[in-house]
Amino acid sequence: MNMRGIHRATGLAAATILAVSGVAGCAKEDTSVTTDTGVKLIKAGALTTCTHLPYAPFQSKDTSGKVVGFDVALIDLVATKLSVTQEIVDTPFEGIKSGSDLNAGKCDVAAAGMTITDERKKVLDFADPYFDATQALAVVPGKEVKTLEELAGKRVGTQGGTTGEDYVKGQVAEKKLDITVVSYKDLAALQQALTTNQVDAAVNDLPVWNEYIKANPGKVAVATGFDTGEQYGFAVKKGNTELLKAINEALTAARSDGTYDKIYAEWIGEKPAS
Ligand code: GLN
Repeated sequence: MNMRGIHRATGLAAATILAVSGVAGCAKEDTSVTTDTGVKLIKAGALTTCTHLPYAPFQSKDTSGKVVGFDVALIDLVATKLSVTQEIVDTPFEGIKSGSDLNAGKCDVAAAGMTITDERKKVLDFADPYFDATQALAVVPGKEVKTLEELAGKRVGTQGGTTGEDYVKGQVAEKKLDITVVSYKDLAALQQALTTNQVDAAVNDLPVWNEYIKANPGKVAVATGFDTGEQYGFAVKKGNTELLKAINEALTAARSDGTYDKIYAEWIGEKPAS
C-alpha cells in the first residue's frame, strides 16, 4: 500500500478548517476547531503539543531556541497529516501525566518521552507505543556502582513524577534501602546536581543519559541499567479518538515507509536489534 499517497491526499482534504464558535456564558469558551478529517484541535492551524523541557534527545531547544527532537519530528508528521503546524507548550511534567493539561485544553497532544503506565492510562488515552526505554543509574566518571544497594547512606537524584523516580522509590521501600532520594524538577536540574556532586548517583531514562554523554563527554557515566521494559506513548485527552487515530496512522505510515527509521537514526542513533 502506498502510505505516502494516502498521506498527501489526506493533507489536501484537510486544507479547509471549520471554525466552531464559542458558547457565550460558559466558564471556558470553546475556541476549538475541527479539521475536515474530523479531528478537533484547540487552535486553528496548529497541533498544540504539551511537553516538558529539556528532555533531549526527545525534546530540547537548539541553539536558535527552536524545540527539536525525536518526539517533535514524529508529531510533525501528525501535524502535516492534518495540514497544520506543530506548536509546542513547555509545561511541568505533573500536568502532562495527570491529564490536567489536556483536560484544560492547554494542548491537543502530550509528547514528552512519556512512558505508558496503567496509572496514566486511567487519565490519558495513549497512542501506539513509539519507543522502548529502560532506566539507568548515572554517576560521575570513576565511581563504580552496579546496584542501588551499594549506595547505602548515599543520596540518589531523580526527576519528579517520572517512572525513574517511581522505580527508585519502589526499590528503596521494597528492599528497605538506606538511601536518600532527592527529587529534581527537571532533567537539567538533575544532571546539574549529579555533576556538582549534590547527589552520588542519578536515575533517569537511558537514552537521555546517552545523549548527555554525547554532548558532554567525560562528565557523567552510566554505571548500570535497570531493565524496566518501558514504552513511550503520545497521549491525548480521554475520548479524543479522532486525534488518536490520526497519530496512530501517522506512526504506522512512518514505520512502513522508512521515515521512522530515519528520524530514529537522526535523534537516537543506531537502532537496537529487535
Ligand atoms: N519516561 C519517563 C516517564 O514517563 C520520563 C519522562 C520525562 O521526564 N519527560 O516518567
